Amino acid sequence: NQDFDVNSAARNWRVEATPQPTPSQLVNEQFARDVLTLDQLKTRLSKSAYKSLQATAERGETLDPSIADTVALAMKTWAMEKGATHYTHWFQPLTGSTAEKHDSFLNPSGDGVAIMSFSGKELIQAEPDASSFPSGGLRATFEARGYTAWDPSSPAFIVRHANGATLCIPSVFASWKGEALDLKTPLLRSIEALNKAVSPALKLFGASEGTRVTSSLGAEQEYFLVAEEYYYRRPDLVMSGRTLFGAKPPRGQELEDHYFGAIPDRVLSFMTDAEMQLYALGIPVKTRHNEVAPGQFEIAPIFENSNIAADHQQLIMQVLRSTARKYGLVCLMHEKPFAGINGSGKHCNWSMATDAGENLLDPGDTPHENMQFLFFTSAVLKAVDEHQDLLRACVASASNDHRLGANEAPPAIISIFLGSELSDIFERLASGQGGRGKAAGLMGLGSRVLPEIPVHAGDRNRTSPFAFTGNKFEFRAVGSSQSISFPITVLNAIVADSVGQLTARLQAKLDGGTPLDTAVAEMVRETYTAHQRIVFDGDGYSSEWHEEAEKQRGLLNLRTTLDAVEHLGSAKNIALFGQLEILNERELAARQEIMYDIYFKTVNIEGETTEYMAQRQILPAALNYLAALKAVPEGSRAAAGVSQEVSAVADQLYDALQALREQNAALGGDEVHEKAHHMRDHVLPAMSEVRSAADKLENLIDSRLWPLPTYRQMLFVK
Ligand code: ADP
Ligand code: MG
Repeated sequence: NQDFDVNSAARNWRVEATPQPTPSQLVNEQFARDVLTLDQLKTRLSKSAYKSLQATAERGETLDPSIADTVALAMKTWAMEKGATHYTHWFQPLTGSTAEKHDSFLNPSGDGVAIMSFSGKELIQAEPDASSFPSGGLRATFEARGYTAWDPSSPAFIVRHANGATLCIPSVFASWKGEALDLKTPLLRSIEALNKAVSPALKLFGASEGTRVTSSLGAEQEYFLVAEEYYYRRPDLVMSGRTLFGAKPPRGQELEDHYFGAIPDRVLSFMTDAEMQLYALGIPVKTRHNEVAPGQFEIAPIFENSNIAADHQQLIMQVLRSTARKYGLVCLMHEKPFAGINGSGKHCNWSMATDAGENLLDPGDTPHENMQFLFFTSAVLKAVDEHQDLLRACVASASNDHRLGANEAPPAIISIFLGSELSDIFERLASGQGGRGKAAGLMGLGSRVLPEIPVHAGDRNRTSPFAFTGNKFEFRAVGSSQSISFPITVLNAIVADSVGQLTARLQAKLDGGTPLDTAVAEMVRETYTAHQRIVFDGDGYSSEWHEEAEKQRGLLNLRTTLDAVEHLGSAKNIALFGQLEILNERELAARQEIMYDIYFKTVNIEGETTEYMAQRQILPAALNYLAALKAVPEGSRAAAGVSQEVSAVADQLYDALQALREQNAALGGDEVHEKAHHMRDHVLPAMSEVRSAADKLENLIDSRLWPLPTYRQMLFVK
């Protein structure tokens, strides 16, 4: 039966309502139930061991290895109380997802007796067989040793399954030479680099000795849900996470009725279930809503320290994916699962904060904070302007290419939206006007050289890839399926670099006797004037902007992943990551290599899946229909007309398919970037020809013969 059973897809969820915690249980028992917090450890460790661990976890001090045994014992005891029988170093290899290899606590102690054990040594380090993770040449297979090592700055947690539970220990992953084979190591290094650069600047503004700075991050995750029945009948969804075929349905998102609409019962049940699990993991999920496209939704937690936010982001994706299945749904994280409607992003809200909780990008309400705010905001402008290439490269993937640059998501051109009020302030500073007006909503800075600051920098612009939103920047180009670790690493790195340079210049002015407020005003003016071209408050989707950005402003427009990834290895970027000790040249080159490789493999899989579906599902459907039409008695004008039309498009499909087969077989060379370029320049265009013919056929032939669930079904049945 080719006419997919909409009823079964729509009704396939029989989940018994689970008793939900009361509000007080939610905060007192559910939240962080499965997290080994410092608070938990306090009651389980000696005072000195606790103090030592706290210094590492909260202030980044070097771990004292002598406490490892007692911490391991406390962890094991806690985990066993929670029902865990296994533990794993949980890490983030360069695939972009997470990896875990479970070991049992159980150890035979002879004569059929076993004990549960977990030593400090096992806590601190493990050696998974590392040979199958991408290393980008950092490790030859004959020296495949890779080590995972405990990250004490992110708490251990329990992951449950139907028959038990596992203790997960957030870890880094490195080669035996100490080179980072993962995404967490450079992230941790970048957090340190940011602190090193920003705390001296803060001292100039009067911060107390020992103030630490870290970056904060809140990521908004967009995703699609489709009924499981449909998913498994779409080889493209299963193989590549996106539809490679599908005619535009009569209705897409044009009615604008989905965004923030009432959440369907089935979806809301799923969301609530996922949220309960996320709460148990201590993840502060806050917001849920329908997104713009039919079948598209969003979940957003409250921001956290960026290392923990990155770990939590991985868990959010994992929990959404696994929970959807309980409701007969599949959660699609792909940036562009359906052509013609909005894709999914993962807006990364980024700021810097002190350990006392002061947000450095908050305009604040006292003069010195405002001066500080202008200083750091101009540092961000400088960073983004000088490193547009890196911001584009860190979100580059075959899947995100369908979103960036298409007319519905932030363009591939990096620019900053400041909002009219903040733009105005910088403009006035640049032109040497000290603002002293008393306009409503503005607060004075208490200095004649500084302008007023808006109380709320309120306006919004959804077309900007990098927007100031009141007290943080929102990096919108990040893709929905990707790990946020590398984008945060880049943000931390470029701002650390920029703040470092500006601080040195500010210090020189102060040493020369210029008072702080005058010196800051001068710095902000100079920085803004030098980097003004990066600020754009208009419509980022418009063709005029593309023209202006490239021709008049000289901004980069790196349309595809391959254009962007090429920049990763530039002398500028090697120097940046090297000086900040975030990635050495080899580590950076490895990441570039892996990005080419993943790009190649992704498109290669899509090319072959397109060929398979066209050859074995779609063309046969067209030929079957032509055969069926032959049975219509001679003389039917309808049958003759349809037959002619179908036959012509089927020929078109056949020709396009031959061309695709050739390109799929060719590969374009031996080097990975040759293969990647072949994919972009030959396979993707050939796929698109095949799709175009196939989508025409979908609109022509008997729906009962059509072998694939349609957009109409996948997007609207829920
Ligand atoms: P919108 O969709 O309007 O952009 P959301 O409420 O969906 O806003 O998400 C905003 C995100 O920004 C949340 O994750 C929030 O916690 C985060 N955020 C707020 N303040 C900061 C900050 N200082 N640093 C980082 N993220 C922040
Ligand atoms: Mg949002």
